[in-house]
Amino acid sequence: MADFAIGVDLGGTNLRIAAVDEHGRLIEKVTLGTKVALGRDRVLDDMCDAIRHLADKYHHGSNLMGIGIGVPGIIDMDTGMIRESPNLPGWSDTPVRLEIERRLGTRVILENDANSAAFGEKWLGAARDVEDMAIITLGTGVGGGIVLNGRIWHGMNGMAGEFGHTTIEPEGVCCGCGNRGCAEQYASASAVMRMAKVMIAGGHAPALAKAASSDAEFSAKAVYNLAIQGDEDARRVFRQVGRALGILIANLVNSLNLPMYVVGGGVSSAWEAFSPSVFEELRQRCLVYAATAPPSRAGDQGASAQVEVKVSRHTIVTRALLGSDAGLFGAARLPMVENNHG
Ligand SMILES: [Zn+2]
Repeated sequence: MADFAIGVDLGGTNLRIAAVDEHGRLIEKVTLGTKVALGRDRVLDDMCDAIRHLADKYHHGSNLMGIGIGVPGIIDMDTGMIRESPNLPGWSDTPVRLEIERRLGTRVILENDANSAAFGEKWLGAARDVEDMAIITLGTGVGGGIVLNGRIWHGMNGMAGEFGHTTIEPEGVCCGCGNRGCAEQYASASAVMRMAKVMIAGGHAPALAKAASSDAEFSAKAVYNLAIQGDEDARRVFRQVGRALGILIANLVNSLNLPMYVVGGGVSSAWEAFSPSVFEELRQRCLVYAATAPPSRAGDQGASAQVEVKVSRHTIVTRALLGSDAGLFGAARLPMVENNHG
């Protein structure tokens, strides 16, 4: 059997642990609920039990290359502490990596979940043929990750790629981070719900209002279902998502000139509903995109009208391929790539 690693995706709702071999084949995946309410120790105990189980089960005859763990929130890579994690209340400013290593008696690699997702898409997904890429993950919040020369770009402390808290609307909606008008307030699942509720409160969105009152599980997915059925109000919500995401990606393209920007996370399944607005914003706002867009995406408005450059390589903006497994595969990949973590 090929050598393998264990990857963990610790989310606010699900805790998933997988053994993945060095060729990217899934050996076994365990999905547990994250018992956040029972406290950090309980979640870490559950995680470490599952890691030990998989390590014991498969290490005969093949080498365990290491353990990578993707966690939501801002991580200080030097200390292995979570600085801020809205999805894991009570975990901030605790030495999470040390607590895991103490339980397992071995070294582990702790990584931000969006960075893990970037690494997964780079390894096995949409970005497998490029060495440089960025991911924007649209989930409960908006995350981001940058891969340069095949390695995660951590920045000085490991906090690079916080795209969700870049400003889209200077005087916009207040964000939990203290800023106003963050991308996260317009392009996340929470944002879809917020914008739908604003429309319902305005009294001019009958289908949304009906869905919200009759469906106890009313969610971003329900808004999406209405959008694909042609409801104009629901479509408007996703056009707002696409506009915010387009502005965000336009800024990234102008700043980074990478060959690929991948949109992942749960909300990316609504790609059909929001992507036209993304490309519209990109063409209008981003000179670098206009100069490097694939021919089929070239338009004649905004920035696109300013350039007639023929380039050999194009800027690709596309959806993620691995779905919710991107972070899990990316976490497993971490210990396989030497020197990614100093
Ligand atoms: Zn923010």
